[in-house]
Amino acid sequence: MSEPILIYEKSRPGRVGYTLPDLVATESDILSSIPAKFRRQTDAQLPEISENEVMRHFVGLSVKNHHIDRGFYPLGSCTMKYNPKLNDKAATFSDFQEHHPLAPCSSAPGILQLMWELQQYLCEVSGFSGMSLQPVAGAQGEFAGLLIMRAYHMERGSHRTKVIIPDSAHGTNPASVASIGFTTIEVKSNEQGIISPEAIKAVMSDDVAGVMMTNPNTLGLFERNVKEIADIVHAGGGLMYMDGANLNAIMGIFRPADTGFDIMHFNLHKTFSTPHGGGGPGAGAVGVRADLEKYLPLPVLEREPHQRKLFFNYDRPHSIGRLHSFFGNFANIVRAYAYIKSNGGDGLRLASENAVLNANYLKEQLKKDYDLPFDTHCMHEFVLSGNRQKKLGVKTSDISKRILDFGMHAPTNYFPLIVPEAMMIEPTESESKETLDRFAEVMHQIAREAETTPEVVTSAPTTTPVRRLDESYAARTLDVNYQG
Ligand SMILES: *Cc1c(COP(=O)(O)O)cnc(C)c1O
Repeated sequence: MSEPILIYEKSRPGRVGYTLPDLVATESDILSSIPAKFRRQTDAQLPEISENEVMRHFVGLSVKNHHIDRGFYPLGSCTMKYNPKLNDKAATFSDFQEHHPLAPCSSAPGILQLMWELQQYLCEVSGFSGMSLQPVAGAQGEFAGLLIMRAYHMERGSHRTKVIIPDSAHGTNPASVASIGFTTIEVKSNEQGIISPEAIKAVMSDDVAGVMMTNPNTLGLFERNVKEIADIVHAGGGLMYMDGANLNAIMGIFRPADTGFDIMHFNLHKTFSTPHGGGGPGAGAVGVRADLEKYLPLPVLEREPHQRKLFFNYDRPHSIGRLHSFFGNFANIVRAYAYIKSNGGDGLRLASENAVLNANYLKEQLKKDYDLPFDTHCMHEFVLSGNRQKKLGVKTSDISKRILDFGMHAPTNYFPLIVPEAMMIEPTESESKETLDRFAEVMHQIAREAETTPEVVTSAPTTTPVRRLDESYAARTLDVNYQG
């Protein structure tokens, strides 16, 4: 007999997980108080199951998948740090959760105050003067930022439509450029893995609307030439956009606006306490320098000059418009606020310092067994290459599958595209030395296996609920309908 999987299969008629007091009114009294057109004709098909079976069902599901509460999760570029439960709790306060999004702002001064303060904190962290919390993903933050860039040029009557992007960029960068109808010019990273000012100078022209850079870049390296690059771009009439999805290395240390960036998005769901990669909603706040504030998405949270009351201003003729219903993903906003409040400025800086320390510690341990294409001091993450193992018939994807056998999540694979057989590793600040050492041991063992018993690696995983899935088939032929 096969194990039941769905809660519906575990259902037995009449079995319940609750006890209710006897009805005071009769069932027909209750029914007659609901207009006929709103009454259901047939009973809802709900699972009937006892409380302990419900618990076992969901706890069982929760451990089938890997998550940060279960084990190490060094998924590069995703900043899978431990997110304190306090922040989750704050996001579920009933005054937040039960406040109707259509209720007037006057009934929610605390909510507006929280959003206002978070905007101020993000301005402080980044150095920008204007902020919008509306975008609901990093990619949507990029979209908003690029629309702002386009609006800036359009207002000047210029027809610039090209955006310069490094070859190490995250895939969302060129996609966002295309989504606003612009085209990209790709520039190559130099032998140190960063962009040199000469590379930008060579392609800067009157067609260029701006440059989109990630700092630290996706190799985990600090783009040391940003100031010089910004000078070239500004002199040429363009704007500097920073992809600030990964701020975990620089909080309290480097403020993007201070080096000449004009626009930036944050991924609040990476650095600021909502796990990324969970498939849930994100928050891609956008910051801008003072003269670009007029283009921010509608509505803009402002403070009345006299009464000092906060309100949403819809009367902003230069705005790029509304990007999302209501005011962004509010639960993420609360978590980010709680995270910043509970850490304080010093705490954020310490988090970044430890994130960098942990990444460098791990890099030094792993570089004996794996190729390290850019052997230099890294920021919050680093990128290894599985080239040496590939020659032995073990691909990076095999190594990643083998890691799962040890109860750890795999690193990001095959990204950035400029490193063959890439493994992008981001340990984050929240892991102990013991966990990092254990991961290094596991990676060391896998490197030995690749040399001596490669089939152990190429046939992994063996300890997970499912083994090797046909991922491309699953992605192309999506079928989420379960037939028992
Ligand atoms: C995660 C990430 C993004 C995109 O963020 P989403 O919220 O997934 O849209 C963009 N750029 C970089 C560098 C990232 O790491």
